[in-house]
Amino acid sequence: MNPDPLPNSCRACGTLLSPEDNYCRNCGKGRGGKAGWQYKPLGVIAMTLLVGPFSLFYVWRSQVISRGAKLAFSAGILFFTYFVVERFYRVWQFYNTLLGGVQVY
Ligand SMILES: [Zn+2]
Repeated sequence: MNPDPLPNSCRACGTLLSPEDNYCRNCGKGRGGKAGWQYKPLGVIAMTLLVGPFSLFYVWRSQVISRGAKLAFSAGILFFTYFVVERFYRVWQFYNTLLGGVQVY
């Protein structure tokens, strides 16, 4: 990694940025040391698969995801979490039955 000169314009597309922008307003590319794939929609999906509902943290801190999309992502993440937990619970129940001395044959 090069030392970042904190450019006034996006390194990817050249759009001029304000000093407080951490992300390009045009293409969403991270700027300075704050580039984070976790804050992009696909990154959020990947984070959800990796860390479950903790990806909500990234959704709400993201500056590249719009407010409406944040609500949609939150709903999706919560639903996904519920789905996974419910699925694990059923698997756990299944093995518990198998190992719990109950004859299934
Ligand atoms: Zn850009």
